[in-house]
Amino acid sequence: MPEIFKIRFKESIIRTPTVESFRFIPEKKINFIPGQFLQVIFDKDNLNNRELNKFLSFSSSPTKDYIEVTKRISESKFSQRLKDLKPDDEIFIKGPLGSCVFDESYKRIGFLIGGIGITPVVSILEYIDDRRISTDVLLFYSNRTDSETAFKNELDKISFSNPKVKIIYLVTDCLSLDKNCIFSRLDKEFLKNYIEDLKKRIIYIFGPPKMVEAVKEICLELGMIKENIKVESFMGY
Ligand SMILES: Cc1cc2nc3c(=O)[nH]c(=O)nc-3n(C[C@H](O)[C@H](O)[C@H](O)COP(=O)(O)OP(=O)(O)OC[C@H]3O[C@@H](n4cnc5c(N)ncnc54)[C@H](O)[C@@H]3O)c2cc1C
Repeated sequence: MPEIFKIRFKESIIRTPTVESFRFIPEKKINFIPGQFLQVIFDKDNLNNRELNKFLSFSSSPTKDYIEVTKRISESKFSQRLKDLKPDDEIFIKGPLGSCVFDESYKRIGFLIGGIGITPVVSILEYIDDRRISTDVLLFYSNRTDSETAFKNELDKISFSNPKVKIIYLVTDCLSLDKNCIFSRLDKEFLKNYIEDLKKRIIYIFGPPKMVEAVKEICLELGMIKENIKVESFMGY
């Protein structure tokens, strides 16, 4: 059941020119499953205030003593409230929420991720790393450009130390400086060529609603059964 927690701001971390993470110390342990999200509450008197109370995924593992959320920073009031936080400021969150979560019993998983949809994946991969879980992971992570690829160093570090975590980066708007990064969309041709064992994996799709719907449709066209496809749409993009 979701609860309301008080959390204390610790620090922020710039991930890309437009993406920033915010770390907090919770007043008490928050038990969540990697993949879940929460609601950041800046207007506690009116929980229905959609402008100041928004959903963000946990971008840290439950094994950490802090909780982290990561936002694509915009001109919105909500973004500004996050940016204005000072160390030791207290805010409220409601959570945990969502059922698109990691399950340790899955032997092989795949992630098809667009942009800021990477946030719950970071939580899941940190968890796999911290707990030394033997799940085989294939992550396809698509961004417009190299410079918009958030968490690249953190993801590479996990993949480097765990041969069961394989990451393929894609860019869609201009060629990458990284020779291992592919210039392509996550389209049907690409998925057909790059994942031979698609039907043997549990596939997670996180990202903006249009991207999630399109990629889910492709997975179904490629013969996946819908029970093996887990999706979370980041409504509001
Ligand atoms: C399950 C879930 C997890 C999410 N995780 C993340 C995350 O980890 N990081 C992240 O950056 N974002 C995440 N989001 C999206 C986040 O909640 C915000 O909607 C988004 O960041 C845009 O907020 P903003 O204040 O920058 O934009 P705004 O300027 O307020 O909105 C941008 C546009 O979206 C429209 N819009 C705003 N809210 C909604 C809504 N609720 N439904 C439909 N349209 C809307 C506005 O009208 C506007 O056109 C998640 C959303 C969901 C549902």
